[in-house]
Amino acid sequence: MLAGDIHADGGKSVMAGMLAGKAALITGGANGIGRATALLFAEEGARVAAADLNLEGAEETAAMIREAGGEAIALSVEVSDAGQVEAMADATVEAFGRIDCAFNNAGIAPVNVGNNAKRTHNWSEEGFDRMIEVNLKGVWLCMKSEIGRMLETGGGAIVNTSSIAGLAGLPTSSGYVAAKHGVSGLTRTAGIEYATDNIRVNAVCPGFIATDMTREVMSRRGNELMALVPARRMGEAREIAEMVCWLCSDRSGFVTGATYNVDGGYMAS
Ligand code: NAD
Repeated sequence: MLAGDIHADGGKSVMAGMLAGKAALITGGANGIGRATALLFAEEGARVAAADLNLEGAEETAAMIREAGGEAIALSVEVSDAGQVEAMADATVEAFGRIDCAFNNAGIAPVNVGNNAKRTHNWSEEGFDRMIEVNLKGVWLCMKSEIGRMLETGGGAIVNTSSIAGLAGLPTSSGYVAAKHGVSGLTRTAGIEYATDNIRVNAVCPGFIATDMTREVMSRRGNELMALVPARRMGEAREIAEMVCWLCSDRSGFVTGATYNVDGGYMAS
């Protein structure tokens, strides 16, 4: 039984789970932080739509949830395509009737656009544009589609994945840093705009997390980077999921327009 199930406790029904009864949409749900969050959301009682460019991976995530007794669907999406993002939101509403929680998390790293280990003047224009298109415009498109539907159903909670790179500079990551600073700014602005509409908008700022995304940079500069982290280790995807779960739950009802570091102390040092 998942934590969010209704179960009998001493003769009376109890709703457990931080997200019991909520409908959630997660982009980047095929892998890493998105998958870990999808699994935790389901454990906490949410019905989950896992959306990703990698449909096979999203289907695997949904299957993992269903095997554990939860409810989930998988959706294919390219987050930089407005039509596909709208279709993703429509499909979620069709399946679950509403979107209560949205985690706009799909993203790419400099290595994915051929610009790893390059200082600002060496980034290609094509790589910079693709980075902005996926990591910044993609988040805006998702918010645009989600907020419209949340306004119709009385509210919701959105969490965007920013980064420590959305709060400070990171050498050789200029396009990524620009996009993530943009995500932090979009989050703050939307947090203000919808504060009286019962829609909360926050961002999580992960430090170095052990996922496929960090494999390349860790193999090149792992020791150097870990020396900058007070906790002297990488974070686990599940440790980001815990923050996202809280931000999507009613327990964070007075929290909006905020960015939360989950980084082993990186931003404090
Ligand atoms: P990951 O590579 O494991 O997962 C990213 C997922 O996003 C993949 O499943 C991928 O298919 C999907 N995706 C990529 N481009 C897409 C697109 N255009 N449309 C739809 N889906 C797309 O990486 P992760 O570490 O889980 O990253 C998740 C988020 O966390 C990203 O936004 C990333 O920038 C951010 N982040 C990660 C770290 C870290 O250390 N891993 C640190 C800070 C922020």
